[in-house]
Amino acid sequence: MTPSRLTVILGIFLLVGSAFTTIPTPEWGFFGHRRINRLAVFTLDAEMMPFFRAHLEWVTEHAVDPDKRRYATEHEAVRHYIDLDHWSEDKTYDHVPERWTDALIWKAGLTIGSENWKVDTILQAPGNQKFSPESVVVFNNDRSRVEIPLGTCRGWWIRNVIPQYYEDQIVVPADSARALGLPAISAQEVTISEGFTDYGILPYHLESMHRRLTEAFREENPTKILRLAAEMGHYIGDAHVPLHTTENYNGQLTDQVGIHAFWESRLPELFADEEYDFFVGKATYIENPREYYWDIVMDSHVLVDSVLQSEWRLRQTFPEDQQMCFDERLGRTIRTQCPEFARAWATVMQGMVEERFRASILSVGSVWYSCWIDAGQPDLSRLVPNLANAETVDSLNAAVQRGKIKGRVHE
Ligand SMILES: [Zn+2]
Repeated sequence: MTPSRLTVILGIFLLVGSAFTTIPTPEWGFFGHRRINRLAVFTLDAEMMPFFRAHLEWVTEHAVDPDKRRYATEHEAVRHYIDLDHWSEDKTYDHVPERWTDALIWKAGLTIGSENWKVDTILQAPGNQKFSPESVVVFNNDRSRVEIPLGTCRGWWIRNVIPQYYEDQIVVPADSARALGLPAISAQEVTISEGFTDYGILPYHLESMHRRLTEAFREENPTKILRLAAEMGHYIGDAHVPLHTTENYNGQLTDQVGIHAFWESRLPELFADEEYDFFVGKATYIENPREYYWDIVMDSHVLVDSVLQSEWRLRQTFPEDQQMCFDERLGRTIRTQCPEFARAWATVMQGMVEERFRASILSVGSVWYSCWIDAGQPDLSRLVPNLANAETVDSLNAAVQRGKIKGRVHE
């Protein structure tokens, strides 16, 4: 082919190509999140299931509200992931705090007048695997360092910093800062910065949602129960996705852009209905929620390398012109992975997506069940939610229509 002809053909291809669009797909796709919540209802026991079955469509539909909320508030995006590898290049994670407060302290900085103090480290008491109250926070600046017991620091943080977490700037009066034990604070106030949140807070958010859902059961507030249960299902689904636990969340660091939606949207959409085994058994009680959520996230994280490497290898060996196909979706033509290519990847991953999908379903049911148990097993049969007034779905949809995700897209 002569160069000029090739140029013309390429030009035509580019022109035609621009008429196609790629529809952004959220995590687990809307398909996956909805399906996980829906099936979780059937893991519940006879005391819980009737209430959830009566609102099956609502719980299914609202599985995707947290993704929609990313368009409405900048604080939402970080709740869907944690970049574990950002905190540990050598892949040992024992030093990553399991408590949210500790995580915030761990990466904090304080500006007192013209002095900048930062947390240098958290020294752990010998024999402690994880931060505990005997641990000591070491603050330093250019000239000195000071050690403060972690228990003291935690209490101070919870009283002074956490209430301002969503403010643009966290400012604490010097009087209360003096109580922290930093020397010679002469300034009027102390400004606090934290460097943790941007890399994701998923496991901490799960723990906080767990408390809130338990509280909703305890209050016997059916509207709140359904809303929090539906949203909890979403975050649990996200925690089961390996690419939600890495900085390379969309293969953007390894020339594999698009792998996120390929794993969690394309594969389930192609194969879940026909091939996945959705019999996952009965919901079980979770003794230690914090440990439980960290286990999920770590189980996902150990799969990251395998997800990335298997797709990379497959792309080198699978015929290049048979990898991407055009597909009709909602009246639009989109470019997406061909079914045969997707099948080949699913095969080399040996059922990983199905396993995580199934684990998500059982986990969502188990969390709902555990929160209900912890709340004293309230009688749900008397509860009638007022879903007409349940959270401002219209305003979420309007935010999505306006169009831009605030914070990191993470897909
Ligand atoms: Zn999400």
